[in-house]
Amino acid sequence: MTGAASAVSTPPFAPGTLGPFPRPDDQFLWDPDKQAMGVEERRELQNERLRALIQRIFDEPVTLFRDKLVSAGVDAAGAISTVDDLADVPLTIKQDLRDSEAAAPPWGSYRFTDPRRAVRLGTSTGTTGQPTITVWTRHDLWVEYESGARNWWRMGYRPGMIVTHAHPAYLYGGGVMLQGTYEYLGLLSLWVPPPDTDELAEQAVRFWTRVTPDIPFMGFATGRFLEVAGKLGIPLEDAGLTGLKAPPGFGLGRGGMPLMTAGAECYAYVGGPCGQSPGAHIHEDWAVVQAVDPATGREVPDGEWGNLTVTTLDRDNGLLRYDLEEACAILREPCPCGETSIRGLWGGRFADLLSCQGTRFQLSELEAVLRTEPLVAQPSLEYQITRHDGGPGPLEVRIEVATDDPAAQGQVAERVTVAIAETLGVRATVEPLARDTLPRAGYKAKRVVSPD
Ligand SMILES: [Zn+2]
Repeated sequence: MTGAASAVSTPPFAPGTLGPFPRPDDQFLWDPDKQAMGVEERRELQNERLRALIQRIFDEPVTLFRDKLVSAGVDAAGAISTVDDLADVPLTIKQDLRDSEAAAPPWGSYRFTDPRRAVRLGTSTGTTGQPTITVWTRHDLWVEYESGARNWWRMGYRPGMIVTHAHPAYLYGGGVMLQGTYEYLGLLSLWVPPPDTDELAEQAVRFWTRVTPDIPFMGFATGRFLEVAGKLGIPLEDAGLTGLKAPPGFGLGRGGMPLMTAGAECYAYVGGPCGQSPGAHIHEDWAVVQAVDPATGREVPDGEWGNLTVTTLDRDNGLLRYDLEEACAILREPCPCGETSIRGLWGGRFADLLSCQGTRFQLSELEAVLRTEPLVAQPSLEYQITRHDGGPGPLEVRIEVATDDPAAQGQVAERVTVAIAETLGVRATVEPLARDTLPRAGYKAKRVVSPD
């Protein structure tokens, strides 16, 4: 006998072992206890979880956040006891995390939990500097999985459905997070490679003709798959690429999109659209999401744009007053769908704001103009602009046009020039290019390039 009585052995497999307990397909919300809880009750839960977060900052200590609190005159955990007190807490931005990791490599001084207790690591894409490192414990992953399950359940996804995605993998943590969350909900997820090359795109398109997803592909690279399916002569319906549409709520009201993510490093699945009201329902039991005026630290009035600022709750690795430097607006009117949380709108990253001839606009606004021209939008929108210095010079735009006829190309370029002037109020020079001129990307294409 070897002391088997005290050793830990594995119980039989059962519901709940590797995923959630099943629930009826016609259940209205994934987690009604949390998603439809009383507003006062939820606020009390937030306050309780916030106090625990602040306590840990002083106890561990988590020096990046502790020093910020002390600099604001908060020298004991008890001074921040409710969500209202957050207005006094200084903001933290991505550069703070980057600096912290550089000063105390590799983890920095903002972790609440020993990274060796985590089971997954991911880095940011590094589009704005050295990538930062995010780690998740099993508990942190569970928070994301449950949050993602709420989002997709709202949108009508149910266990037994086949989905597909092309998120990047390896050190970029987004792909495995999405795959894991789909599996958790009980979906059969076809993870195809990002279509960096036509050959990789072909692998995906051909596989979709064998196992066709119930929910068509929807992601940054959608246009690439349509383009390559066209080149191969594969009908879009054979690959399940028809009926592509944005999730419900996109573009509704006030000009923003539903606030669906606060970044992998903060809260990947912070909320999702219900389809009945503008914006996305925010999972407030796991985060305080605010639209903040960075000059005052106060929240801007409801419905107005402020800095998306998130304090995560009930995590092994939290973030306090994390300012994503993106535009966000909060809507608090009750929603007829029955969910009781606030809703959030997303207005883009400030880093993506472009300035030209004294006018500021988002790349997405320019894209919307380009998409009005079928020969530019089809089979995939491919364009580049030169990063503008904000001065009086023209905005330089290069677009691929799906025709070899130089006269037709010239007419398209002329119409686009007029449309940009009318819609954005910006003078542009538009250069038409043949298809397949610009570099392709499997995830997020580089649309803004530096001047030569
Ligand atoms: Zn709703």
